[in-house]
Amino acid sequence: MSMIEFREVSKAYQSRVAIDAISLKVERGERVVLFGPSGCGKSTLLHLIAGLAKPDSGDILIDGELAATAGKNLQEPEQRGIGMVFQDLALWSHMTVAENIEFGLIAKRVANRERRQRVREMVDLVRLGDYLNARPGTLSGGEQQRVALARALATAPRILLMDEPLSNLDDELSLQMRQEILRLHYDIGFTLVYVTHSHNEAKELGTRTIRLRQGRIDSASNGAAA
Ligand code: ADP
Repeated sequence: MSMIEFREVSKAYQSRVAIDAISLKVERGERVVLFGPSGCGKSTLLHLIAGLAKPDSGDILIDGELAATAGKNLQEPEQRGIGMVFQDLALWSHMTVAENIEFGLIAKRVANRERRQRVREMVDLVRLGDYLNARPGTLSGGEQQRVALARALATAPRILLMDEPLSNLDDELSLQMRQEILRLHYDIGFTLVYVTHSHNEAKELGTRTIRLRQGRIDSASNGAAA
């Protein structure tokens, strides 16, 4: 679990301000839901946390350590202990479920035996034990979401970033996945930052809801769940 802190962080693309002097603290193990209309800066905020975008000004701290500051990433994405599940799941279709989940562990040079064990644990966790050798293309939407979740969690991230991860699922699958995410949060413990347009998802998943508006935190709704 990690603490995330933004101090007066701004980010523009060309002349377009995406994040406008945001200060924000997310406590360890908190589940923050980001809300707001399209283009208000939700994805940019996640990219800044992940190190996929650099702030133009301000500081980003993870566990009290400076991860990024004006124009510079001081910690690479892979140093930040972050797992990501975005709307476009980007599963590798030519790899099996096991290989997809194993990928981040290979990048982290986890030893062979430990890797296999970890993949096994992950597929059990998301209840996909029977699909180790299946290709993602042969799975249902919900099963693919679970593979993406297992892949994101395999490296035991301290922070999990999710950008509308359930938006392509029907109601029943979405509900199942929400329960899954809460169960995993309970079992593993991670700090969650979750982007959605859905009030149901926000209510169920968030310990706090933050509404963004034009790159700023809308103070009226920074607090209790929506
Ligand atoms: P949201 O996720 O809330 O829909 P974004 O963070 O994607 O919002 O976008 C915030 C603003 O930044 C928008 O005006 C968007 O057009 C702009 N933006 C985001 N990413 C880029 C990019 N890679 N290049 C140019 N403009 C971008």
